[in-house]
Order: sequence, then structure tokens, then C-alpha cells
Amino acid sequence: MINHTSKPKRCAEEYIIMTLSGVSSLGILPFAILRLIQQDWAVALLDIFAVIAIGSLFGYVYITHNTKVPARLLAFLAMLIVFISVTLKGSGQLMWIYPALTAIFFLLPVNVAALLSGLVLVGLGLVLYDELTLFLTLEFYVSAIATLLFSYAFSDRMRKQQDQLAELATKDPLTGAGNRRAMEQKLLDTIAFQRREQGYPASLILMDLDNFKKVNDNFGHAKGDDILIAFVDTIEKRIRSTDKLYRFGGEEFVLIAENTPINEAIKLAESLRHAVESDGWLAEHEVTISVGTAKYNPHESAFEWLGRADRAMYQAKEQGRNNCCVA
Ligand code: GH3
Ligand code: MG
Ligand code: MG
Repeated sequence: MINHTSKPKRCAEEYIIMTLSGVSSLGILPFAILRLIQQDWAVALLDIFAVIAIGSLFGYVYITHNTKVPARLLAFLAMLIVFISVTLKGSGQLMWIYPALTAIFFLLPVNVAALLSGLVLVGLGLVLYDELTLFLTLEFYVSAIATLLFSYAFSDRMRKQQDQLAELATKDPLTGAGNRRAMEQKLLDTIAFQRREQGYPASLILMDLDNFKKVNDNFGHAKGDDILIAFVDTIEKRIRSTDKLYRFGGEEFVLIAENTPINEAIKLAESLRHAVESDGWLAEHEVTISVGTAKYNPHESAFEWLGRADRAMYQAKEQGRNNCCVA
């Protein structure tokens, strides 16, 4: 179930930055050589700077997998290089604003990209004030603003869809708790953090609703669903924002509490058990949970950690249910 991948996979952001920086630095290289041959030293210097700076960003992302700072740097570099080249060579360089405008909407938060684009467009207008006719100025602004608005709309929509997909891929549709896939990822992340930052305790609380089959049999499956939703609501109201609840299986849930020593986790488990017992969702039947709590032991795998919490939970069942046990 849980697999450890030693080599991190590249995410979409890395591919976007590497494509944009790779294509731009290779694309500018012939111009740098041409300008050197023409002995147009100022532009040659700008082009060489662009090739080296953007090429270094490519290398940095390739090696470190970091994207946040390189994305911002690449966006600002793109705008700066276009701006300086228009300042040096005039309106003949204006066409470079179009790919730069489109690119920065992939690299920056949309509102920051819109603000930066607006500033650069105004700056370019000022630089070219004497050179452009009224008609050319209008043509430039209408086409640049159309590109800007299109990039804004496209990027905004793409990000909203990405968020919706991420939510669908990580949430349990019935209860809204994290799903099993998200839980496995969180366990791996928590363990990786534990190995890096020794001394930060993490605890896992596994909860299973008692005799839930009877609830379904006696009150119907729909009522059973309502109770699962109410259960998640009850737990989520009582945990910290850093604790995360996942639906592990049908009526089994896992709470991963980072930075929580075992004595605190035991108290939390007991308070959750008590909260469920007291909630009284069914007048005719008391809904309860059996709970297993386990602290993370150095060097164990996610599978072993979860296994110990599961055995503690079964011990709680054996002791008559509506109980908490510690691994
Ligand atoms: P125990 O106290 O030993 O855990 O008994 P139990 O009846 O809870 O355990 P068992 O594993 O026998 O049954 C689990 C039940 O949970 C059976 C299944 O129908 C029910 N269940 C699992 N997922 C859902 C769900 O999404 N909705 C509803 N209504 N019931 C569910
Ligand atoms: Mg059960
Ligand atoms: Mg179960």
C-alpha cells in the first residue's frame, strides 16, 4: 500500500519553469551571438546576461526541484529583459512582450502577474512616448491588453480547476475527511519530517466505530451515512488545525497529530471517545468508538506505525469496545 519513492517525481510547476527557462535561454542564445558579431555591445551584454541568468534558473530547478523562488525570478527577469531591450533598441523589440506576458501568468499568482504587466505596459508607453505614433500606440496597447486579459482568464481558470481536482483526489466524498490516498501521503511526509527533525513527536490515533454493522442493519444505510458525517464533524470541531483526520476505511478513521507527545495524544483520544459517546445521534442506540493510539518510533515505516495503532485499537475492542488503548 504505502510505497517509499527515493527519487522525487517532478511536479507540473517544475516542468513549466524548466520548459519556459530552457526554451528562452536557448532561444536568446543565437541573438546574443548575432549581436556580438554585429558588435552591438549593449544588447549583446543584455542577451548574454539573459542566457546565463535564465539558464541558471533551469539548472537550479533541475537539481533542487524547488519552484517557488525560481518562478518569481523568471517572471521578473522576463519583464526586465523585455523592458531593457525596448529601452535600448526601441519599438522593434516590442513583440517580445507577448510571450513574456503569457509566461508570467504561469509563473506568478494571477493578481501579481496582472499588476506587474500593468506597470511594465505603462513603463513601455513612457519609454516609447516620442517614437510611436498615436495609431501604433493604440495598436500596441489594445493587442497587449487583449493578451494580458486572455492570459489572466486562462491562468485563473486553470488554477481553480487544479484546486478542484486536488480536492477531489484527496477528500473522502461522503464525510469530507481526507481520503486514504491523502493519509498515506501525509504519513510518508510526517515520517520524513520526523527523520529530519528528531525530537518533534508525532502521534497517530486510529478510531473505529463500534458495532456499526448493527447501526446499518437496524436504522438503515442512509442513517449510517449521516452518523459517519456527524462523527467527522464532532472530531474536527475538537482538534487543532495542524491535526488532520482521514477516512482509512469504511468506519475507520485515522488522526495524525504532529508535534504531539504520546501523553497528550492519549488525553486527546480519551476526549474524542467521550465526545462521541455523549453526542447521542440515535436515541435508541449509543454510538461509540474504540481507539488505538501510537507514537511514532524512530526508524519504523508508516506501515509498522499504523499496524501498532491498529493492534491497540483491536485491544480496545477486546476490552469491551468504547475504550482507548495505547500501543
Ligand atoms: P466492530 O465493533 O468490531 O468494529 O463491529 P462493526 O460492525 O463496526 O465492524 P464490521 O467490520 O463488521 O462492519 C463495519 C460496517 O461498517 C459494515 C459496513 O456496512 C459499514 N460501513 C462501511 N462503510 C460504510 C459507509 O460508507 N456507510 C455506511 N452506512 N456504512 C458503512
Ligand atoms: Mg467497527
Ligand atoms: Mg472496522
